[in-house]
Amino acid sequence: MKRIAILGSSGSIGTQTLDIVSKMKDNICVEGLAVSSNIKVLKTQIKKFKPSAVFIKSSTDAHNLKQWCVFNNIKTDVYSGNTGLEKLATMPNVDMVLAAIVGAVGLKSTIAAIKAKKNIAIANKESLVIAGNYIMKLAAENGVSILPVDSEHSAIFQCCTGEKKAHIKKIILTASGGPFYKYNKDFSKITVEQALAHPTWNMGKKITIDSATLMNKGLEAIEASILFGLPIDKVEIVIHPQSIVHSMVEYVDGSVIAQLSNPDMKLPIQYALTYPERLSSNIKTLNLADIGKLEFYKPNFDKFLCLKLAYFAAKKSYTMPAVMNAANETAVAAFLNGEVKFTYIAKIVEKTMKAHEMSKNMSLDTFVEADSWARQYAEKLIRVCSN
Ligand code: MG
Repeated sequence: MKRIAILGSSGSIGTQTLDIVSKMKDNICVEGLAVSSNIKVLKTQIKKFKPSAVFIKSSTDAHNLKQWCVFNNIKTDVYSGNTGLEKLATMPNVDMVLAAIVGAVGLKSTIAAIKAKKNIAIANKESLVIAGNYIMKLAAENGVSILPVDSEHSAIFQCCTGEKKAHIKKIILTASGGPFYKYNKDFSKITVEQALAHPTWNMGKKITIDSATLMNKGLEAIEASILFGLPIDKVEIVIHPQSIVHSMVEYVDGSVIAQLSNPDMKLPIQYALTYPERLSSNIKTLNLADIGKLEFYKPNFDKFLCLKLAYFAAKKSYTMPAVMNAANETAVAAFLNGEVKFTYIAKIVEKTMKAHEMSKNMSLDTFVEADSWARQYAEKLIRVCSN
């Protein structure tokens, strides 16, 4: 029996994980659930999974939730506030933490869980972008596995299990291309609604916008280079609109190994939870003859500036990826709020990166400082744009 805590249980990855877990009750039990503010969803999840503890950010919500638990005869502890999330992530009765909080806010809890020797199923790609080498080193020191949940990274992981790293020539990361890959009208007029309409994946808002700018693929390229310990030059991106091939690994002998399935996040989530076992699932069987054709295109780095920025940040390394990520999170939030145009997302990220003086200190504080500096700088740029 694997005992898990899910950080970000009301989000897209969190709810899909619970769907899987509800069908694997003999193998997995839920000990902890954490949400930012969605108390309604959390209550439903508590009733169904009876975790030993939960986290909700505000102390008022936590107080209400405690009373609700007493009233319903539920013995679940409720944590809140600044240290509550870390408390939940480090509970002694938990074996694995699913890090599914979106953005830099997921960083501290991921690190706390690693230090407490919990295996990590990582969906929070931003934490690997911000402090990837630090996290991988910490995981190695604590004998902890970091298992990918992102579909592409799960694919790469499956394609290279049992292989020697020295035999890998390159990783080929597939990208659906998002809603605007073939779009040839004015990008500056793209609305929030258009950007939120992803052709193949149904995800949260932040990642959907990142998929439209292709920053998501840029973040994933950095994530792949960190997780698999390869330089960014060995991570190649190919546009594959059908999202059937989830990524590939090319070996020195010229062999290319790919992982295929219908696009369904439940597969990579389940694999991260059950690894090294494979359990049967109810995802739709892949029928290649029905699909007929699989297409692949070169990505357009000029049309999608965010891709260029991500490779630049990865090459610069140190604090540059953290700065890129923070500026992007800030710019995406401003776009979703209607404060800036779609095309300004990349421009804000670029300007923030250009203004950044990199630090070569590899401490966690340095990354956190770079992150908050970039947010403030990007905010200033947004105020200029929106006036
Ligand atoms: Mg992905």
